[in-house]
Amino acid sequence: MNICKPKVVVSSCLLGEKVRYDGGSVSDSNVEDILKFAQPIGVCPEVGIGLPVPREKVFLQRDKNDLKLIQEKSGKDFTKEMGDFSQRFLSNLKGVDGFILKGKSPSCGITGAKTYKNKDRTGYIGRRTGLFAREVKKKFPCLPAADEILLKDKEFRDLFLIRLFLSCLHREKGGEYILKNFRGLLKLFNKTGLKRFEKDLSWENLHRILCRKPKDIKEAVHLGRNILLRNIVA
Ligand code: SF4
Repeated sequence: MNICKPKVVVSSCLLGEKVRYDGGSVSDSNVEDILKFAQPIGVCPEVGIGLPVPREKVFLQRDKNDLKLIQEKSGKDFTKEMGDFSQRFLSNLKGVDGFILKGKSPSCGITGAKTYKNKDRTGYIGRRTGLFAREVKKKFPCLPAADEILLKDKEFRDLFLIRLFLSCLHREKGGEYILKNFRGLLKLFNKTGLKRFEKDLSWENLHRILCRKPKDIKEAVHLGRNILLRNIVA
């Protein structure tokens, strides 16, 4: 029996909703597998700022030291709208355990959003984080956040799941339960953080521990598998 279903904010197109610029959606087997055991909260930031489906593509333009969200043909600037929407949406989230966002998107991409120097989409300068995803990382720096590209890596995926389920178990069963059952695992992530957590068993302190990469990833995945087995397979 599942004892905990993590709450995960997911790009709507990855949930099969036809909200992409071309009117389509995206399917990804790793994301689908994870979502079988989670409570997804869908969001499409581009629809959220009022863009229609289908729509002209938007892209990232580097402007001095910042990034702008520009619509390809019209040249309209949606940076402010995206900033306002992100603030509003993220401020209203309660008790979320993590994020799965669509990679390469100028809005949702945790990784891989193509970025250009000029407003006419010339002068390619590399890949950056999309504007909505950037606000997610600012507001929730220690919550697990991934896109379907990062989730292709098995080790990354296992650690992501461990973080999600620990977060969920803390919400549902409390800090003492986490400390009693997963002290060894938390120690692998962050010894100093564990001491702070022992004094104050808050969810925030748990995430401060999980923010770090464990020293021994293989061992962490091995220990963490217990969480997954209890929650997913059992
Ligand atoms: S990547 Fe994000 S903004 Fe683009 S369609 Fe999917 S949910 Fe909407």
